[in-house]
Amino acid sequence: MPTREREPSASERREALKEVFVKARGCTRCSELAATRKTVVFGAGNADAELMFVGEAPGASEDEQGVPFVGRAGRLLNTLLGEIGLAREDVFICNVLKCRPPGNRDPQPAEIANCQEYLLAQVELIQPSVICTLGNFSTKLLRGDPTGITRLHGQPEVLVLGARAVRLYPIYHPAAALYTPRMLETLREDFVRLPELLALGAPEQPSLELPPEPAEMPPEPSEPLQGAEQAPASGRRGGAEPDQLGLF
Ligand code: URA
Repeated sequence: MPTREREPSASERREALKEVFVKARGCTRCSELAATRKTVVFGAGNADAELMFVGEAPGASEDEQGVPFVGRAGRLLNTLLGEIGLAREDVFICNVLKCRPPGNRDPQPAEIANCQEYLLAQVELIQPSVICTLGNFSTKLLRGDPTGITRLHGQPEVLVLGARAVRLYPIYHPAAALYTPRMLETLREDFVRLPELLALGAPEQPSLELPPEPAEMPPEPSEPLQGAEQAPASGRRGGAEPDQLGLF
């Protein structure tokens, strides 16, 4: 029988997430963002969360503090979470871009392309059942389609991202709702449906392509294989942990 690789445990996935963070923290793919940012805002919350929120990009407060959604839009997000009985610590919150665009301008297509590897790794390692996209940028990126949030908000769909199937749930960005009472009302209506979506659990996962069974098993090697790599005893790197690692 072909053997399936063991699923990594939550703590193994969290360790791998830390490694992705360490890589993102030193990222210079977008020269302008790397030169103007104060911090790389990787994301915060539960690294094994069922629910993940994806916003647009850090603003000034997030850039200062290294934490996503800590300004006015973040306070609204906290309120909405509280209204459905959740806290930030229960969910994982991140953005399409991990660095603040100067002057809070829109993320540029090249920046989104440069940064998407980090977001896809976050999805792969956190394994959320539900991804709630906040506004247009994250909705368009994860759906791979230009349809806007006004058409899509409040409509869950199952989507395969990398190797994971997730329930994608686009809703308005809280920053947009801050200034438009009608939009806040719609955001709230959509938000209160999150618990029923979470109750559905993860969608069925795509089946892994397994190699065909060999007609005959090769003989067991009697000697250790030459050049076989020794697995490291631990994934931990030396040195102090960067501060933001405590955030997830
Ligand atoms: N808006 C976002 O999209 N992300 C943040 O982190 C803050 C505000």
